[in-house]
Amino acid sequence: MSDLTRKTAAELSELMASKQASSVEVTQAHLDRIAAVDGSVKAFLHVDTEGALAQAAAVDAKRAAGEELGPLAGVPLALKDVLTQEGVPTTAGSKILEGWKPPYDSTVVKRLKAAGIVILGKTNMDEFAMGSSTENSAYGTTHNPWDLGRIPGGSGGGSSAAISAYEAPLAIGTDTGGSIRQPGAFTGTVGVKPTYGGTSRYGLIALASSLDTPGPCARTTLDAALLHEAIAGWDPMDSTSINQDVPAVVAAARNGDVSGLRIGVVKELGGEGYQPGVEARFHEAVELLTKLGAEVVEVSCPHFQYALPAYYLILPSEASSNLAKFDAMRYGLRVGDDGTNSAETVTSLTREAGFGDEVKRRIILGTHALSSGYYDAYYGQAQKVRTLIARDFTKAYEQVDVLVSPATPTTAFAIGDRIDDPIAMYKNDLCTIPSNLAGNAAASFPCGLADEDGLPVGFHVMAPVMRDDLLYTVGAALESALAEQWGGVLMTKAPELEVTR
Ligand code: GLN
Repeated sequence: MSDLTRKTAAELSELMASKQASSVEVTQAHLDRIAAVDGSVKAFLHVDTEGALAQAAAVDAKRAAGEELGPLAGVPLALKDVLTQEGVPTTAGSKILEGWKPPYDSTVVKRLKAAGIVILGKTNMDEFAMGSSTENSAYGTTHNPWDLGRIPGGSGGGSSAAISAYEAPLAIGTDTGGSIRQPGAFTGTVGVKPTYGGTSRYGLIALASSLDTPGPCARTTLDAALLHEAIAGWDPMDSTSINQDVPAVVAAARNGDVSGLRIGVVKELGGEGYQPGVEARFHEAVELLTKLGAEVVEVSCPHFQYALPAYYLILPSEASSNLAKFDAMRYGLRVGDDGTNSAETVTSLTREAGFGDEVKRRIILGTHALSSGYYDAYYGQAQKVRTLIARDFTKAYEQVDVLVSPATPTTAFAIGDRIDDPIAMYKNDLCTIPSNLAGNAAASFPCGLADEDGLPVGFHVMAPVMRDDLLYTVGAALESALAEQWGGVLMTKAPELEVTR
């Protein structure tokens, strides 16, 4: 059944529940697809063939024994290589962790396993999740299935490319400044950044601890919600985890009723620097939501314009501190340990060889921003801006239920286009970063193709803390309205890839 890879996770779940397909068959179909196309997409850093088939067989055995299984039991998934999985190589896209096999499962992985979700392997990413294109990965660039000459977004480009190329129906990403939503937008898939603290960071290799948020990637809104529900919820192992019920995301994704919903279009996230085709699709989607009964108004968030500079002080500061643990003594790579060098020299030789340029750039920036005499001027000031941005959200949510904008100013760009221009690269995240700074929920949903280049455009929805359900309400409404417009076809269907072997 080769078309198993074309099914959504919800459809696969039904097929397995009614015994029309086994998890081993479903898993094998996706492993075959990976073998056929990943030579050109390069979404995976590690494919765990044996482990995946063993997990699938275990689910099949449980089903045969009549055990009660969760809604995603037996469905395969691609895991961003920044989350630990016991015994499976985990690199965070860095040479410094090459060959490291974690001795424990992250909470996200524990929950995936408990839900019977089959982990196919680890996906490519920018080194330590720093980047917007996967070009900063130490293991090569992932290619966008819509156009192999373009980047798939980043840092979680591997996860989004994998689902877009039908190598997996589900994937996990992590979003610190947009790394789930921006690749989602660029690959025509759904990417959700849950409320900060709504999903556990335990076992997530930290980039910036006050921003990092694991979340679901899928081809449909319902699939993302099912995965969201499987991984979310309080975790005593993460001190910033929120001890509250998980928002009713699946119910919202099934319902999708936006009548009476108050939607605010963020004035500051559009205009100059935004690609015309992106703006056109965005405004059409807003129109569609209006027709479905939503009340749309324009809202101003005046401090959003300072989000990027604030982020690029806060993030490097936290990253420089988090990355200090890669000292050649504890994990992975060790260079220069020949019995003559001091421990300090070994540490510095290892960090020199093991970290890429962008990581070094941010460590230097962060160390500078945190150094005595500069702390107040840089880090302290950025934290104040962060508060102002959070207040913009609070004020906006007094008037509206959700805020919307394009997910990114442009569509996917060509490989090599922005890699030498960090500022141009950073600008990818203009729309996504405010939500990370404020910790609220946000998502990107496909809303059509730009006229100029025929590439996917993402519709960005932001909702208050622990109102992740509202994202799915809007996503589901948009998805069904667009499918109707497209003659019943979801625009998340990436073009056929040529099978490379
Ligand atoms: N592109 C952003 C950065 O480089 C976002 C990264 C992320 O969300 N992990 O910091």
